[in-house]
Amino acid sequence: MNRFQRVKTKIVATLGPATSNYEMIKQLVDAGASMFRLNTSHGSEEGHAANIETIRKISKESGKYIPILVDLQGPKIRVGNIKEPVEIKEGQEIILEATDDINNPAVIPVDYEGIADDVKPGDKVLLDDGNVGLQVLEVQNHQVHAKVLYGKVIKPRKGINLPGSTASLSAVTERDVEFIRFAVEYDADYIALSFVREARDIELAKKYIKDFGGNIPVIAKIEKPQAVEKLEEILKVADGIMVARGDLGIEMSPEEVPIVQKYIVDQTIRERKVCIVATQMLESMIENPIPTRAEASDVANAILDGTDAIMLSGETAMGKHPVDAVRMMRKIASNVEDCNFCLSNLDLEMNDKYELSPQAISNAAVKMAEDLHAKAIMAFTHTGYTPKLLSKLRPTVPIIAISDMESTCRRLSLYWDIFADFKEWDTVLDADLLEKIDEYILSHTDFKKGERIIIIGSIPKLITGRTNFIRVHRIGAPLER
Ligand code: PEP
Repeated sequence: MNRFQRVKTKIVATLGPATSNYEMIKQLVDAGASMFRLNTSHGSEEGHAANIETIRKISKESGKYIPILVDLQGPKIRVGNIKEPVEIKEGQEIILEATDDINNPAVIPVDYEGIADDVKPGDKVLLDDGNVGLQVLEVQNHQVHAKVLYGKVIKPRKGINLPGSTASLSAVTERDVEFIRFAVEYDADYIALSFVREARDIELAKKYIKDFGGNIPVIAKIEKPQAVEKLEEILKVADGIMVARGDLGIEMSPEEVPIVQKYIVDQTIRERKVCIVATQMLESMIENPIPTRAEASDVANAILDGTDAIMLSGETAMGKHPVDAVRMMRKIASNVEDCNFCLSNLDLEMNDKYELSPQAISNAAVKMAEDLHAKAIMAFTHTGYTPKLLSKLRPTVPIIAISDMESTCRRLSLYWDIFADFKEWDTVLDADLLEKIDEYILSHTDFKKGERIIIIGSIPKLITGRTNFIRVHRIGAPLER
Protein backbone atom coordinates (compact mmCIF):
# COMPACT_ATOMS: atom_id res chain seq x y z
CA MET A 1 0.00 0.00 0.00
CA ASN A 2 1.28 3.44 -0.91
CA ARG A 3 1.12 5.11 2.49
CA PHE A 4 2.64 8.44 1.55
CA GLN A 5 0.20 11.22 0.85
CA ARG A 6 1.29 14.83 0.66
CA VAL A 7 -1.05 17.16 2.54
CA LYS A 8 0.11 20.72 3.17
CA THR A 9 -2.70 22.54 4.98
CA LYS A 10 -4.30 20.40 7.69
CA ILE A 11 -8.05 20.41 8.32
CA VAL A 12 -9.52 20.10 11.81
CA ALA A 13 -13.11 18.81 11.88
CA THR A 14 -15.24 19.20 15.01
CA LEU A 15 -17.41 16.18 15.77
CA GLY A 16 -20.99 16.61 16.92
CA PRO A 17 -24.45 15.12 16.50
CA ALA A 18 -24.15 15.21 12.68
CA THR A 19 -20.94 13.20 12.57
CA SER A 20 -20.53 11.08 15.70
CA ASN A 21 -20.61 7.69 14.02
CA TYR A 22 -18.25 5.39 12.12
CA GLU A 23 -19.64 6.06 8.65
CA MET A 24 -19.47 9.86 8.93
CA ILE A 25 -16.04 9.96 10.55
CA LYS A 26 -14.71 7.67 7.83
CA GLN A 27 -16.19 9.91 5.15
CA LEU A 28 -14.66 12.98 6.79
CA VAL A 29 -11.23 11.29 6.78
CA ASP A 30 -11.61 10.29 3.14
CA ALA A 31 -12.67 13.84 2.29
CA GLY A 32 -9.49 15.21 3.87
CA ALA A 33 -9.96 15.78 7.62
CA SER A 34 -6.55 15.59 9.32
CA MET A 35 -7.53 15.99 13.00
CA PHE A 36 -10.75 15.72 14.99
CA ARG A 37 -11.83 18.14 17.70
CA LEU A 38 -13.98 16.94 20.59
CA ASN A 39 -15.74 20.01 21.95
CA THR A 40 -16.30 19.39 25.65
CA SER A 41 -18.72 22.34 25.86
CA HIS A 42 -21.17 19.81 24.50
CA GLY A 43 -21.67 16.09 24.87
CA SER A 44 -20.85 13.58 27.55
CA GLU A 45 -17.64 11.76 28.45
CA GLU A 46 -19.17 8.54 27.10
CA GLY A 47 -19.99 10.19 23.78
CA HIS A 48 -16.47 11.59 23.40
CA ALA A 49 -14.94 8.26 24.42
CA ALA A 50 -16.98 6.48 21.75
CA ASN A 51 -15.72 8.96 19.14
CA ILE A 52 -12.12 8.42 20.21
CA GLU A 53 -12.52 4.67 19.78
CA THR A 54 -14.05 5.13 16.35
CA ILE A 55 -11.29 7.51 15.21
CA ARG A 56 -8.57 5.13 16.43
CA LYS A 57 -10.27 2.23 14.61
CA ILE A 58 -10.48 4.18 11.35
CA SER A 59 -6.92 5.33 11.83
CA LYS A 60 -5.76 1.73 12.07
CA GLU A 61 -7.82 0.59 9.08
CA SER A 62 -6.69 3.46 6.87
CA GLY A 63 -3.06 3.46 8.05
CA LYS A 64 -3.32 7.21 8.72
CA TYR A 65 -2.17 8.94 11.86
CA ILE A 66 -5.14 11.03 12.97
CA PRO A 67 -4.63 13.28 16.00
CA ILE A 68 -7.44 14.05 18.44
CA LEU A 69 -7.91 17.42 20.13
CA VAL A 70 -9.84 17.63 23.39
CA ASP A 71 -11.13 21.21 23.54
CA LEU A 72 -11.89 22.34 27.11
CA GLN A 73 -14.82 24.64 27.66
CA GLY A 74 -12.89 26.91 30.04
CA PRO A 75 -14.51 29.57 32.20
CA LYS A 76 -17.55 30.16 29.99
CA ILE A 77 -20.25 32.10 31.80
CA ARG A 78 -23.86 31.32 30.94
CA VAL A 79 -27.42 32.55 31.52
CA GLY A 80 -29.16 30.28 34.04
CA ASN A 81 -31.93 27.85 33.23
CA ILE A 82 -34.66 30.47 32.84
CA LYS A 83 -38.08 28.89 32.34
CA GLU A 84 -38.95 30.86 29.23
CA PRO A 85 -37.12 33.09 26.78
CA VAL A 86 -37.08 36.74 27.90
CA GLU A 87 -37.46 39.54 25.42
CA ILE A 88 -35.40 42.61 26.19
CA LYS A 89 -35.45 45.87 24.28
CA GLU A 90 -33.02 48.67 23.55
CA GLY A 91 -32.96 51.29 26.30
CA GLN A 92 -34.51 48.98 28.91
CA GLU A 93 -32.76 48.38 32.24
CA ILE A 94 -32.19 44.82 33.44
CA ILE A 95 -30.55 43.07 36.37
CA LEU A 96 -28.08 40.18 36.21
CA GLU A 97 -27.41 38.15 39.35
CA ALA A 98 -25.60 34.94 40.28
CA THR A 99 -28.61 33.06 41.58
CA ASP A 100 -30.42 29.75 41.19
CA ASP A 101 -33.76 31.52 41.48
CA ILE A 102 -35.33 31.27 38.05
CA ASN A 103 -38.77 32.49 39.13
CA ASN A 104 -38.03 36.19 39.45
CA PRO A 105 -38.85 37.81 36.08
CA ALA A 106 -37.02 41.01 37.10
CA VAL A 107 -33.67 39.23 37.32
CA ILE A 108 -31.68 37.30 34.70
CA PRO A 109 -29.89 34.51 36.57
CA VAL A 110 -26.24 33.86 35.76
CA ASP A 111 -24.19 30.75 36.58
CA TYR A 112 -21.12 32.70 37.77
CA GLU A 113 -20.73 33.77 41.42
CA GLY A 114 -18.15 36.45 40.64
CA ILE A 115 -20.12 38.44 38.08
CA ALA A 116 -20.82 41.37 40.43
CA ASP A 117 -17.13 41.54 41.43
CA ASP A 118 -15.78 41.41 37.91
CA VAL A 119 -17.66 44.29 36.30
CA LYS A 120 -17.85 48.00 37.02
CA PRO A 121 -20.03 50.84 35.74
CA GLY A 122 -19.35 51.51 32.05
CA ASP A 123 -18.27 47.92 31.26
CA LYS A 124 -19.97 46.03 28.47
CA VAL A 125 -21.66 42.68 28.99
CA LEU A 126 -22.51 40.64 25.90
CA LEU A 127 -25.01 37.80 25.75
CA ASP A 128 -25.77 35.15 23.15
CA ASP A 129 -22.65 35.48 20.95
CA GLY A 130 -22.83 39.25 21.17
CA ASN A 131 -26.39 39.50 19.88
CA VAL A 132 -27.41 41.27 23.08
CA GLY A 133 -25.29 44.16 24.32
CA LEU A 134 -25.53 45.65 27.82
CA GLN A 135 -23.72 48.47 29.56
CA VAL A 136 -23.23 48.24 33.30
CA LEU A 137 -24.86 51.15 35.20
CA GLU A 138 -24.10 50.08 38.75
CA VAL A 139 -23.35 47.08 40.94
CA GLN A 140 -25.43 46.82 44.09
CA ASN A 141 -25.91 43.96 46.56
CA HIS A 142 -24.40 41.37 44.20
CA GLN A 143 -26.68 42.54 41.43
CA VAL A 144 -25.47 44.04 38.17
CA HIS A 145 -27.80 46.76 36.87
CA ALA A 146 -27.36 47.31 33.17
CA LYS A 147 -28.84 49.22 30.28
CA VAL A 148 -29.70 47.35 27.10
CA LEU A 149 -27.70 48.78 24.17
CA TYR A 150 -29.22 46.37 21.70
CA GLY A 151 -31.34 43.39 22.45
CA LYS A 152 -33.44 40.50 21.39
CA VAL A 153 -34.88 37.40 23.02
CA ILE A 154 -32.60 35.75 25.62
CA LYS A 155 -32.83 31.98 25.88
CA PRO A 156 -31.67 29.70 28.70
CA ARG A 157 -27.97 28.66 28.86
CA LYS A 158 -26.81 31.27 26.34
CA GLY A 159 -23.18 32.39 26.73
CA ILE A 160 -22.12 35.61 28.45
CA ASN A 161 -18.93 37.50 27.60
CA LEU A 162 -17.33 40.16 29.79
CA PRO A 163 -14.94 41.79 27.29
CA GLY A 164 -11.84 43.23 28.86
CA SER A 165 -12.75 42.19 32.37
CA THR A 166 -10.15 40.13 34.17
CA ALA A 167 -12.79 37.69 35.38
CA SER A 168 -11.62 36.03 38.58
CA LEU A 169 -12.90 32.66 37.35
CA SER A 170 -10.19 30.03 37.33
CA ALA A 171 -8.78 29.39 33.86
CA VAL A 172 -9.29 25.67 34.40
CA THR A 173 -12.73 24.85 35.79
CA GLU A 174 -13.74 21.69 37.65
CA ARG A 175 -15.34 20.40 34.47
CA ASP A 176 -12.08 21.09 32.60
CA VAL A 177 -10.08 19.14 35.19
CA GLU A 178 -12.39 16.17 34.64
CA PHE A 179 -11.82 16.39 30.88
CA ILE A 180 -8.05 16.72 31.37
CA ARG A 181 -8.17 13.45 33.30
CA PHE A 182 -10.27 12.02 30.46
CA ALA A 183 -7.82 13.28 27.79
CA VAL A 184 -4.88 11.69 29.60
CA GLU A 185 -6.79 8.43 30.13
CA TYR A 186 -7.67 8.22 26.42
CA ASP A 187 -4.23 9.37 25.26
CA ALA A 188 -5.54 12.42 23.38
CA ASP A 189 -2.96 14.19 21.22
CA TYR A 190 -3.74 17.82 22.03
CA ILE A 191 -5.68 19.73 24.68
CA ALA A 192 -7.08 23.19 23.85
CA LEU A 193 -7.62 25.67 26.68
CA SER A 194 -10.39 28.24 26.22
CA PHE A 195 -10.42 31.89 27.34
CA VAL A 196 -6.71 31.94 28.09
CA ARG A 197 -5.68 35.26 29.62
CA GLU A 198 -2.01 34.78 30.43
CA ALA A 199 0.84 32.27 30.41
CA ARG A 200 -0.06 31.12 33.92
CA ASP A 201 -3.34 29.66 32.61
CA ILE A 202 -1.39 27.33 30.32
CA GLU A 203 0.99 26.43 33.12
CA LEU A 204 -1.98 25.51 35.31
CA ALA A 205 -3.44 23.22 32.62
CA LYS A 206 -0.01 21.63 32.14
CA LYS A 207 0.26 21.02 35.87
CA TYR A 208 -3.05 19.13 35.87
CA ILE A 209 -1.95 17.12 32.81
CA LYS A 210 1.27 16.20 34.60
CA ASP A 211 -0.58 15.37 37.83
CA PHE A 212 -2.71 12.89 35.89
CA GLY A 213 0.46 11.34 34.48
CA GLY A 214 0.19 12.79 30.97
CA ASN A 215 2.36 14.86 28.68
CA ILE A 216 -0.14 16.29 26.21
CA PRO A 217 0.68 19.48 24.29
CA VAL A 218 -1.58 22.44 25.10
CA ILE A 219 -3.05 24.74 22.49
CA ALA A 220 -4.00 28.20 23.77
CA LYS A 221 -7.27 29.48 22.33
CA ILE A 222 -6.84 33.20 21.79
CA GLU A 223 -10.30 34.66 22.25
CA LYS A 224 -9.81 37.50 24.73
CA PRO A 225 -8.16 40.89 24.16
CA GLN A 226 -5.97 40.28 27.22
CA ALA A 227 -4.56 37.17 25.54
CA VAL A 228 -3.72 39.14 22.40
CA GLU A 229 -1.86 41.64 24.59
CA LYS A 230 0.02 38.84 26.33
CA LEU A 231 0.59 36.72 23.24
CA GLU A 232 4.36 36.82 23.56
CA GLU A 233 4.38 35.28 27.06
CA ILE A 234 1.62 32.82 26.14
CA LEU A 235 3.62 31.65 23.11
CA LYS A 236 6.60 30.87 25.32
CA VAL A 237 4.67 28.20 27.24
CA ALA A 238 1.88 27.03 24.89
CA ASP A 239 2.60 24.33 22.32
CA GLY A 240 0.29 25.88 19.77
CA ILE A 241 -2.29 28.58 19.23
CA MET A 242 -5.87 28.59 18.00
CA VAL A 243 -7.24 31.85 16.63
CA ALA A 244 -10.71 31.28 18.15
CA ARG A 245 -12.51 33.90 16.14
CA GLY A 246 -15.98 33.12 17.51
CA ASP A 247 -15.42 34.51 20.97
CA LEU A 248 -12.61 36.81 19.83
CA GLY A 249 -15.11 38.58 17.58
CA ILE A 250 -17.38 39.09 20.57
CA GLU A 251 -14.76 40.15 23.10
CA MET A 252 -13.23 42.50 20.51
CA SER A 253 -15.26 43.81 17.59
CA PRO A 254 -15.63 41.78 14.40
CA GLU A 255 -13.86 44.48 12.39
CA GLU A 256 -10.72 44.04 14.49
CA VAL A 257 -10.49 40.27 13.98
CA PRO A 258 -8.85 40.12 10.49
CA ILE A 259 -5.79 42.14 11.49
CA VAL A 260 -5.56 40.50 14.91
CA GLN A 261 -5.68 37.12 13.13
CA LYS A 262 -2.73 38.14 10.93
CA TYR A 263 -0.79 39.26 13.99
CA ILE A 264 -1.48 36.05 15.95
CA VAL A 265 -0.63 33.73 13.04
CA ASP A 266 2.55 35.65 12.27
CA GLN A 267 3.77 35.59 15.89
CA THR A 268 2.88 31.91 16.28
CA ILE A 269 4.74 30.65 13.24
CA ARG A 270 7.75 32.81 14.07
CA GLU A 271 7.83 31.21 17.52
CA ARG A 272 7.80 27.82 15.64
CA LYS A 273 4.50 26.77 17.23
CA VAL A 274 1.57 25.10 15.50
CA CYS A 275 -1.31 27.36 14.46
CA ILE A 276 -5.02 26.73 13.83
CA VAL A 277 -7.46 29.34 12.49
CA ALA A 278 -10.99 28.56 13.61
CA THR A 279 -14.67 29.37 13.44
CA GLN A 280 -17.20 30.35 10.81
CA MET A 281 -14.80 29.48 8.00
CA LEU A 282 -17.56 27.90 5.89
CA GLU A 283 -20.45 28.82 8.18
CA SER A 284 -23.11 29.00 5.47
CA MET A 285 -22.42 25.33 4.66
CA ILE A 286 -24.23 24.44 7.88
CA GLU A 287 -27.29 24.95 5.70
CA ASN A 288 -26.08 25.15 2.09
CA PRO A 289 -24.09 22.76 -0.11
CA ILE A 290 -21.69 25.46 -1.32
CA PRO A 291 -19.98 28.29 0.59
CA THR A 292 -20.22 32.00 -0.05
CA ARG A 293 -17.39 33.57 -2.07
CA ALA A 294 -16.40 35.50 1.04
CA GLU A 295 -16.01 32.25 3.01
CA ALA A 296 -13.85 30.71 0.28
CA SER A 297 -11.66 33.82 0.47
CA ASP A 298 -11.52 33.60 4.25
CA VAL A 299 -10.19 30.02 4.12
CA ALA A 300 -7.65 31.01 1.47
CA ASN A 301 -6.53 34.07 3.41
CA ALA A 302 -5.91 32.09 6.60
CA ILE A 303 -3.57 29.84 4.58
CA LEU A 304 -1.88 32.86 3.03
CA ASP A 305 -1.37 34.23 6.54
CA GLY A 306 0.70 31.10 7.22
CA THR A 307 -1.47 28.91 9.44
CA ASP A 308 -0.76 25.17 9.66
CA ALA A 309 -4.41 24.20 9.99
CA ILE A 310 -7.91 25.47 9.43
CA MET A 311 -10.90 24.35 11.45
CA LEU A 312 -14.56 23.52 10.91
CA SER A 313 -16.93 23.80 13.88
CA GLY A 314 -20.71 23.86 13.39
CA GLU A 315 -20.19 22.91 9.73
CA THR A 316 -19.13 19.37 10.67
CA ALA A 317 -20.62 19.14 14.17
CA MET A 318 -24.23 19.85 13.31
CA GLY A 319 -24.38 21.00 9.69
CA LYS A 320 -26.33 19.48 6.85
CA HIS A 321 -23.24 19.03 4.63
CA PRO A 322 -20.29 18.03 6.83
CA VAL A 323 -18.46 15.94 4.23
CA ASP A 324 -18.95 18.54 1.51
CA ALA A 325 -17.58 21.18 3.88
CA VAL A 326 -14.33 19.22 4.39
CA ARG A 327 -14.10 18.51 0.66
CA MET A 328 -14.63 22.18 -0.15
CA MET A 329 -12.03 23.26 2.39
CA ARG A 330 -9.55 20.83 0.89
CA LYS A 331 -10.23 22.16 -2.62
CA ILE A 332 -9.78 25.78 -1.56
CA ALA A 333 -6.56 24.84 0.27
CA SER A 334 -5.19 23.00 -2.78
CA ASN A 335 -5.75 26.02 -4.97
CA VAL A 336 -3.83 28.25 -2.59
CA GLU A 337 -1.02 25.72 -2.12
CA ASP A 338 -0.58 25.42 -5.89
CA CYS A 339 0.00 29.15 -6.12
CA ASN A 340 3.72 29.30 -5.33
CA PHE A 341 4.07 33.05 -5.62
CA CYS A 342 1.17 33.51 -3.15
CA LEU A 343 2.91 31.60 -0.36
CA SER A 344 6.45 32.76 -1.09
CA ASN A 345 5.77 35.99 0.80
CA LEU A 346 6.15 34.15 4.08
CA ASP A 347 9.66 34.98 5.16
CA LEU A 348 10.26 32.30 7.74
CA GLU A 349 13.98 31.65 7.66
CA MET A 350 15.33 31.09 11.15
CA ASN A 351 18.00 33.81 11.01
CA ASP A 352 17.64 34.39 14.70
CA LYS A 353 18.19 30.81 15.71
CA TYR A 354 21.10 29.62 13.55
CA GLU A 355 23.34 28.78 16.44
CA LEU A 356 21.56 25.54 17.41
CA SER A 357 22.32 22.43 15.44
CA PRO A 358 18.72 21.34 14.65
CA GLN A 359 17.92 24.83 13.37
CA ALA A 360 21.08 25.09 11.28
CA ILE A 361 20.53 21.62 9.84
CA SER A 362 16.88 22.39 9.09
CA ASN A 363 17.85 25.58 7.26
CA ALA A 364 20.50 23.65 5.32
CA ALA A 365 18.12 20.79 4.48
CA VAL A 366 15.58 23.18 2.99
CA LYS A 367 18.25 24.88 0.86
CA MET A 368 19.82 21.60 -0.24
CA ALA A 369 16.46 20.10 -1.15
CA GLU A 370 15.82 23.08 -3.39
CA ASP A 371 19.28 23.24 -4.97
CA LEU A 372 19.45 19.50 -5.63
CA HIS A 373 15.82 19.12 -6.76
CA ALA A 374 15.31 16.52 -4.05
CA LYS A 375 11.91 14.84 -3.74
CA ALA A 376 11.57 15.05 0.05
CA ILE A 377 13.30 15.69 3.34
CA MET A 378 13.23 12.61 5.55
CA ALA A 379 13.66 13.46 9.24
CA PHE A 380 14.25 10.88 11.92
CA THR A 381 12.70 12.05 15.15
CA HIS A 382 11.70 10.97 18.62
CA THR A 383 9.44 13.78 19.85
CA GLY A 384 9.13 15.64 16.54
CA TYR A 385 11.34 18.57 17.53
CA THR A 386 13.22 18.96 14.23
CA PRO A 387 10.34 18.19 11.80
CA LYS A 388 8.34 20.93 13.55
CA LEU A 389 11.15 23.40 12.87
CA LEU A 390 11.41 22.20 9.29
CA SER A 391 7.69 22.58 8.74
CA LYS A 392 7.87 26.22 9.77
CA LEU A 393 10.50 26.84 7.06
CA ARG A 394 7.99 25.79 4.41
CA PRO A 395 10.35 23.69 2.29
CA THR A 396 9.34 23.24 -1.34
CA VAL A 397 9.35 19.46 -0.82
CA PRO A 398 7.34 17.37 1.66
CA ILE A 399 8.70 16.38 5.05
CA ILE A 400 8.59 12.67 5.77
CA ALA A 401 9.01 12.32 9.53
CA ILE A 402 9.95 8.85 10.76
CA SER A 403 9.43 8.38 14.48
CA ASP A 404 9.73 5.54 16.95
CA MET A 405 6.67 6.89 18.80
CA GLU A 406 3.13 6.66 17.43
CA SER A 407 2.03 9.65 19.52
CA THR A 408 4.70 11.74 17.76
CA CYS A 409 3.36 10.58 14.38
CA ARG A 410 -0.15 11.67 15.34
CA ARG A 411 0.90 15.03 16.74
CA LEU A 412 3.13 15.84 13.77
CA SER A 413 0.22 15.19 11.44
CA LEU A 414 -1.23 18.58 12.46
CA TYR A 415 1.79 20.47 11.10
CA TRP A 416 2.01 21.99 7.63
CA ASP A 417 3.24 19.52 4.98
CA ILE A 418 4.41 16.81 7.38
CA PHE A 419 3.68 13.19 6.62
CA ALA A 420 4.61 11.11 9.66
CA ASP A 421 5.17 7.39 9.93
CA PHE A 422 6.11 5.00 12.71
CA LYS A 423 9.22 2.82 12.39
CA GLU A 424 11.30 1.27 15.11
CA TRP A 425 14.45 1.45 13.05
CA ASP A 426 17.90 1.52 14.50
CA THR A 427 18.93 4.91 13.11
CA VAL A 428 22.66 4.19 12.89
CA LEU A 429 23.50 5.65 9.49
CA ASP A 430 24.78 2.53 7.78
CA ALA A 431 24.06 0.47 4.66
CA ASP A 432 21.33 -1.39 6.51
CA LEU A 433 19.39 1.81 7.29
CA LEU A 434 19.76 3.13 3.73
CA GLU A 435 18.41 -0.14 2.42
CA LYS A 436 15.38 0.17 4.68
CA ILE A 437 14.86 3.76 3.57
CA ASP A 438 15.06 2.78 -0.12
CA GLU A 439 12.62 -0.05 0.36
CA TYR A 440 10.23 2.29 2.18
CA ILE A 441 10.49 5.10 -0.36
CA LEU A 442 10.12 2.82 -3.37
CA SER A 443 7.09 1.02 -1.98
CA HIS A 444 5.24 3.98 -0.42
CA THR A 445 5.93 6.90 -2.77
CA ASP A 446 6.16 7.42 -6.51
CA PHE A 447 9.78 8.62 -6.21
CA LYS A 448 12.14 6.80 -8.58
CA LYS A 449 15.52 5.14 -8.20
CA GLY A 450 18.25 7.70 -8.73
CA GLU A 451 16.15 10.62 -7.46
CA ARG A 452 17.42 12.38 -4.38
CA ILE A 453 16.11 12.79 -0.88
CA ILE A 454 17.72 14.68 1.99
CA ILE A 455 17.98 12.70 5.22
CA ILE A 456 18.49 14.31 8.63
CA GLY A 457 18.64 12.84 12.11
CA SER A 458 20.86 12.30 15.10
CA ILE A 459 23.68 9.79 15.47
CA PRO A 460 24.79 7.65 17.23
CA LYS A 461 21.21 7.46 18.50
CA LEU A 462 17.90 9.28 18.30
CA ILE A 463 17.89 12.06 20.90
CA THR A 464 15.45 14.97 21.02
CA GLY A 465 16.96 18.25 19.93
CA ARG A 466 20.25 16.65 18.89
CA THR A 467 19.81 16.50 15.15
CA ASN A 468 23.42 16.40 13.97
CA PHE A 469 23.62 14.79 10.55
CA ILE A 470 22.46 15.63 7.08
CA ARG A 471 22.92 13.37 4.09
CA VAL A 472 22.06 13.61 0.43
CA HIS A 473 20.86 10.21 -0.69
CA ARG A 474 20.19 8.95 -4.17
CA ILE A 475 17.35 6.46 -3.89
CA GLY A 476 18.69 2.98 -4.53
CA ALA A 477 22.38 3.94 -4.43
CA PRO A 478 24.57 2.02 -1.97
CA LEU A 479 26.24 3.82 0.94
CA GLU A 480 29.71 4.16 -0.55
CA ARG A 481 28.56 6.14 -3.61
C1 PEP B 1 -14.22 30.14 19.10
O1 PEP B 1 -14.71 30.86 19.98
O2 PEP B 1 -13.95 30.55 17.96
C2 PEP B 1 -13.90 28.73 19.43
C3 PEP B 1 -13.21 27.98 18.59
O3 PEP B 1 -14.29 28.26 20.63
P1 PEP B 1 -15.67 27.47 20.92
O4 PEP B 1 -16.02 26.73 19.66
O5 PEP B 1 -15.31 26.61 22.05
O6 PEP B 1 -16.62 28.55 21.22
